[in-house]
Amino acid sequence: MTTGLTPQALDGRHSRVARVRCRMDELGVDVLLLSHGADLPWLTGYRAMPLERLTLLVLPVDGDPVLVVPGLEAPRVADAPGLFALRPWSDAEDPLDIVVELLRSTASGRFAVSDRAWATSVLALQRRMPDAHWVEASTVTSPIRAVKDAAELAALRAAGAAADRVAAVLQSGGIPLVGRTEASVSADLGALLVAEGHSAVNFAIVGSGPNAASPHHEPGDRMIGRDETVVCDFGGTLSLDGDVGYCSDITRTVVTGTPSGEVRACYDVLLAAQQAAVAAARAGVTASSVDKVARDTIEAAGFGHLFVHRTGHGIGIEEHEDPYLVTGNDEVLVPGHAFSVEPGIYRRDKFGMRLEDIVVIGADGAPEPLNTVDHDLVVLDH
Ligand code: ZN
Ligand code: ZN
Ligand code: ZN
Repeated sequence: MTTGLTPQALDGRHSRVARVRCRMDELGVDVLLLSHGADLPWLTGYRAMPLERLTLLVLPVDGDPVLVVPGLEAPRVADAPGLFALRPWSDAEDPLDIVVELLRSTASGRFAVSDRAWATSVLALQRRMPDAHWVEASTVTSPIRAVKDAAELAALRAAGAAADRVAAVLQSGGIPLVGRTEASVSADLGALLVAEGHSAVNFAIVGSGPNAASPHHEPGDRMIGRDETVVCDFGGTLSLDGDVGYCSDITRTVVTGTPSGEVRACYDVLLAAQQAAVAAARAGVTASSVDKVARDTIEAAGFGHLFVHRTGHGIGIEEHEDPYLVTGNDEVLVPGHAFSVEPGIYRRDKFGMRLEDIVVIGADGAPEPLNTVDHDLVVLDH
């Protein structure tokens, strides 16, 4: 699939490169070295397969960027005029020779290398460039990637709307639950994600009964019974115009039959906490303060010890990226930030519940939830 980038997408990439270079300059980074991971497709439109052969974008703070790729992968690189030169290497060459030559003028410089690069590549480069200084590429890219541009917001909105349509099927009883395994319900959710426009299913957690108390439960052979909470947390990647895809991520909890008084009471607290945290997520507040709003609400009801994880994570090309809504993260939210708000309450060995929306900070500084499907504890009878 060597569809070139659209003119708008190419413009967007040039503007990202300019912002990246500006930040490299601020941080004193001479060269950005991007291998596996989301930074490369974000910047170039090309996603490297996680092969052992070296793929590396060499992007100097000034000077021409070069994408060093295995020759057999070169046909998969989308045309991106003016963005980078392509340097395919054959199996008869050592790609490190090519990279070292490209880096010759900055051999004792400061290099920012992909967080997700193979250790084998990084260690080999470090042996060849003993005078260089190394930092994670995320120090350059993360704060820029966290603030989504118009094209990214369009993709996130489309992914969120598609996930909402799947959740609506679940909540209307369109997926039978009682008497079926978590794994088969998970497969149904995955198929619906694809039917609604996702190109890939990233996960479809289905945790029923006591399994619902394990936040990242792996759906298995457990048969879903009556009067159980069922946590369904699912998401995929959706691509507009064949460009790099963006992620959806939503959690809804349903109950098969009448919820107990305890389940009902916990859910009322969970809903209040999630809605308060969404409302608090505005430009100018810290990421940790949004976590605190959710946590304080749940703690005030006496369930604080049952909320065992952070309130949310950023989302974009990756399911989890900056900014994280967690104690200690004093990063200030700004328009364009996109993240989940997903408190949960987990009674070990009994039941669990979580409620998750993706929220974007709008241009006016107010929260824009991308998931608007019913937030109540939906009672299903089958
Ligand atoms: Zn999670
Ligand atoms: Zn989720
Ligand atoms: Zn999430």
